[in-house]
Amino acid sequence: MNPPPTNSPPPPPARLRLRVTATAETIVRGGHPWLFADSVREQNRPGITGEVAVLYDRKDAFLALGLYDAESPIRVRLLHAGKPQTVDREWWRARLVAALTRRAGVFGPGTTGYRCVNGESDGWPGLVLDRYGDTLVLKLYSGVWLPRLGEVVELITAELPAGRLVLRLSRNLQECARREFQRTDGEVLLGTPPVGPVIFLENGLFLESDVLQGQKTGFFLDQRDNRRRVEGFAAGRTVLNAFSFSGGFSLYAARGRARAVTDLDLSAHALAAGARNFALNQNLPAVAACPRTAVQAEAFAWLGAAATPRYDLVILDPPSLAKREAERGGAVAAYERLVGLGMRRLAPGGMLVAASCSAHVNTAEFYAAVRRAVAASGRRSVERFTAAHAVDHPAGFPEAEYLKSIGLDCS
Ligand code: SAH
Repeated sequence: MNPPPTNSPPPPPARLRLRVTATAETIVRGGHPWLFADSVREQNRPGITGEVAVLYDRKDAFLALGLYDAESPIRVRLLHAGKPQTVDREWWRARLVAALTRRAGVFGPGTTGYRCVNGESDGWPGLVLDRYGDTLVLKLYSGVWLPRLGEVVELITAELPAGRLVLRLSRNLQECARREFQRTDGEVLLGTPPVGPVIFLENGLFLESDVLQGQKTGFFLDQRDNRRRVEGFAAGRTVLNAFSFSGGFSLYAARGRARAVTDLDLSAHALAAGARNFALNQNLPAVAACPRTAVQAEAFAWLGAAATPRYDLVILDPPSLAKREAERGGAVAAYERLVGLGMRRLAPGGMLVAASCSAHVNTAEFYAAVRRAVAASGRRSVERFTAAHAVDHPAGFPEAEYLKSIGLDCS
């Protein structure tokens, strides 16, 4: 036998094929976008993070395909289930265009900050793309995108013209990104680095986003609709915005003719951003007329302190209180305690708005905790609204439904 020629390229590796458990088969057919490692019965070879894996059912027929992640318990991020499908540039392009089309015409010129691609629920598992004016922020939550970054950036620039594109990486990816792909969190992929925070518009208000270092992609776009609701309830009221971050709720309340607003946050950095956001909107008479106070304190302790005054509208929007499933019970109890403390700070006839962004605490559990705490205060209440995700944050599967909020008028 002749030896193979030494200068020929190695043959491409065989397509990565996985056989999955019967339970996973049902879940995948039902459209769930995650295949966990313990659902893989066998595979033809070790997979490489980011490559396309093809899933086969019990009869060895095509089931689905997705992006393989060797490092994560979510072993495959599903892209497509049903009939066999070629995943090429055109397929990705169509997928991006579909996400953009979903938002077309939703926001007028008064809103230049919104989510363009919302991960799994838009068919881009573990990938988020937010726009803040002329700046796009691409945030990766899964390593499957690291080897594909060039391809993704090329598509984004072709379909979504912008002056700047910033890369953000979830904490668990940062080390691998630096070591294996020479990528860093906050890296500017296109355009010039911003000088300070990026200013954008939301419902006609100027707001800033710290796109290079801020939480998420620099701002909490997901609360837009709730900020708007609060604006409608604020007239003539004193407002406490607990866990205020950059003061978005307070700014809307001020435009809604609140008597005064108080931002409460642990972070001096967040409160300083709140002050700047107020300063940016002094052209609006209602904002200019509304006194703003900033309190830097731990919210549970401050709300529980006897000297804390009462407010006519209390907003409680803490960070996720359950980062893991194991923390779920503790988080439900913490929400209940927080609402109990908030009720003590609520003036007679006041309104309480409570939100949860914990994916591990489901909607029913959260509302039940809030209702228990309100009932325990001995005050009568009428529910004014419950709300989930804004239109640009579609939630296509249960784990994506992290945000829920409730507003109650209290006696
Ligand atoms: N409501 C905000 C988003 C809140 S993010 C908005 O609409 O934009 C959560 C905020 O809670 C962060 O700014 C964080 O600094 C703050 N925070 C976290 N733990 C806190 C605590 N124990 N007490 C007070 N603030 C806290």
